[in-house]
Amino acid sequence: AKQNGRNTVSRFDPGQDRLVQQRQVKRRRFARAIENGELILHYQPQIDMATAEVIGFEALVRWKHPKEGLKAPDSFLPLTEGTQLETSLGEWVLRQALTQLGCWQQQGLVLPVSVNISPSHLLNPDFVPRLEGLLAANPWITTDRLKLEVVETAAMHDIKAALDTIDRCQAMGIEVAIDDFGTGFSSLTYLRQLPVDMIKIDKSFVRDMLTDPSDLAIVESVIYMARRFDRALLAEGVETLEHADALLGRGCRLAQGYGIARPMAPEAVVEWLQRWRE
Ligand code: C2E
Ligand code: CA
Ligand code: CA
Ligand code: CA
Repeated sequence: AKQNGRNTVSRFDPGQDRLVQQRQVKRRRFARAIENGELILHYQPQIDMATAEVIGFEALVRWKHPKEGLKAPDSFLPLTEGTQLETSLGEWVLRQALTQLGCWQQQGLVLPVSVNISPSHLLNPDFVPRLEGLLAANPWITTDRLKLEVVETAAMHDIKAALDTIDRCQAMGIEVAIDDFGTGFSSLTYLRQLPVDMIKIDKSFVRDMLTDPSDLAIVESVIYMARRFDRALLAEGVETLEHADALLGRGCRLAQGYGIARPMAPEAVVEWLQRWRE
């Protein structure tokens, strides 16, 4: 792999070559893992803290590695970045989430699922047609049951294309949220330009909001902006009652976090809901 330009690999550095090769091997293994059905989605509840009502679930991918056990997305998502794998993974996740919605519906569970969409998947010109195809294949799932979470960062380097895709999803009846709000560097521009339905405050701000005045200032500002821009607002990473009280007291009602429930296997969801509603 001797190249020139941006990804220059020196012919005098066999160590570097080996790293590139190892990455290729890992990518091929991950591609096979998708085909072999080694991925699963876990689901984390999202609630309205004012009423304790469950408003939906976020789908979070895991890799059931045959040797290494359950692997978190941070350990394999970087492998997919900038490659076709990002779209393959994204399509698997969408298909799986729709299948799960169908199973739950048969059990009488009718709640929306939010799916994380990576920037390059969202900007893939085939995104909307493929999504339409998936929805057409699951005609009993109404589009208000599927929601998309899009990170503000790279998603929007091509803001026109992102805008167009988000518009088309919303026209189909699918709500779109900005994920990790506040961690990118142009949140305000996005908020102005992208007609998203919901803002998710990143867990890094929630975590320290009670001890770090700057984090509290950010949380309060986002709450203010959500109200001014008339967008729904959900706080991630709610771990304690103190977090919940502080958010609710400031007008942020929707939340998700370990303090409510950890992400769980789909089989556990129906039972969790029963216990939660008791
Ligand atoms: P995210 O979308 O911001 O998801 C929230 C992450 O915070 C999840 O980590 C979740 O398990 C974790 N979390 C939830 N509640 C708490 C809490 O109270 N405290 C703390 N410390 N953490 C909490 P996870 O599942 O490891 O996912 C990490 C990231 O990987 C996600 O961040 C998302 O960006 C990405 N990701 C996960 N699933 C998918 C997927 O299917 N597709 C794509 N493209 N990205 C995904
Ligand atoms: Ca998310
Ligand atoms: Ca986040
Ligand atoms: Ca994230």
